[in-house]
Amino acid sequence: MINRKVELFRGDIFYFTSSPLEDIHAYRYIPDGVLAVSEGKILATGSFVEMKKCFSDASVTDFSGKLLMPGFIDAHIHYPQSEIIGMYGRQLLDWLHEYTFPAETMFSSPEHADYIADFFVNELFRNGTTTCMAYATVHPESVNALFTAASQYNMCMLTGKMLMDRNAPEQLTDTVERGGTESRTLIEAWHNKGRNRYVITPRFAISCTDKQLSEAGRLHRDYPDTYIQTHLSENKSEIDQTLSLYPDCSDYLEVYERAGLVTERTVFGHCIHLSEAESHRLASAGAAIAHCPTSNLFLGSGLFNMREANRLGLQTTLATDVAGGTSFSMLRTMGEAYKVQQLNAYPMSPFESLYKCTLGSARVLKLEDEIGSFKEGCYADFIVVEDAVTPSQQIRKDCLQRTGKWDLENRIFGLQILGDDRNIAATYIEGKAVKFKFITRE
Ligand SMILES: [Zn+2]
Repeated sequence: MINRKVELFRGDIFYFTSSPLEDIHAYRYIPDGVLAVSEGKILATGSFVEMKKCFSDASVTDFSGKLLMPGFIDAHIHYPQSEIIGMYGRQLLDWLHEYTFPAETMFSSPEHADYIADFFVNELFRNGTTTCMAYATVHPESVNALFTAASQYNMCMLTGKMLMDRNAPEQLTDTVERGGTESRTLIEAWHNKGRNRYVITPRFAISCTDKQLSEAGRLHRDYPDTYIQTHLSENKSEIDQTLSLYPDCSDYLEVYERAGLVTERTVFGHCIHLSEAESHRLASAGAAIAHCPTSNLFLGSGLFNMREANRLGLQTTLATDVAGGTSFSMLRTMGEAYKVQQLNAYPMSPFESLYKCTLGSARVLKLEDEIGSFKEGCYADFIVVEDAVTPSQQIRKDCLQRTGKWDLENRIFGLQILGDDRNIAATYIEGKAVKFKFITRE
């Protein structure tokens, strides 16, 4: 047998083995357990006592009492908007023109792109996010900067150049030809290089002509293992404007269908106001929806109905949509998802939420053999989570322990409702701890 260096991480192990919507017990929870890591990948999980016997020579990093779980996967986020998080401003279309487009214009400068990419990746790690599917800007430099920043850590990053050939400032528009050529060059340079994956990224139907959307569809046919990301039915004015730009389409989804963009490798942001017919077509195409609750509340876009999405068999993930979203934290995102679903009379279980930020998200991205769980052979991308870092969290934990109710469900739910970046004690990529940096402009 080959002698491999094995490292053990001791703590309370938690991960999903399948969807809790199909089987409420589809997880493994091992109090005082061990995650065994070798060469950056998961080797095994088990109880501390039994694993210590199996790997008697292995070093042990002790996180006793803390949760060890797979890193979060954020399937919809805009890295160029990092600087404009929390900027005051009305609804989607106003917000795009007032804050987003000026911020994205700055990315013609590679120095600016490098600085924001570095900030962004660090902010993800500080919040326990180890993989994301991110929008870049129309500038190829913005994609190079983000893949370069992620590659320094061997992080699994999915991103792509924004395609926009109308209804945006001149500095932010490309053409059908330029968008196609630049995307192809970036795919050849980055897709499947290390852990990088390319995402074909038309912003949304308003900012793309039908020719550009068709070109995006062609790109995907030429490179069928790339991904597609775009926005769908986020806001009522957006839907009205889309249908007036595409008068021969019967609904918003048809705009993307005609271009060949509705695939099982497509993630649509939002989908709040879909008709039942659109939902059925999305479900049968196997496309996924990223539900972004902090963004939907912040921009007043509406209340996504998770119960209905589940009933119709739609694949969904939770995502931040920074900077329409107001937090990089997937814990905060799960907390807000709970409240949005409460307003739909659907008290979403903490297991469903957490699944949709880990294994569920990995499945949507067809990466469940690499990330999202502690299955043997997956990358050791994991986080160490502390239950109580604030007085409120501590007194709640004390109360639950005193009354014999400190169970897994209450433990996870407390993190979702009261937790944030302060609860992330450490983030590991391929078994290596990432040091959080506080990035500021010099
Ligand atoms: Zn978005």
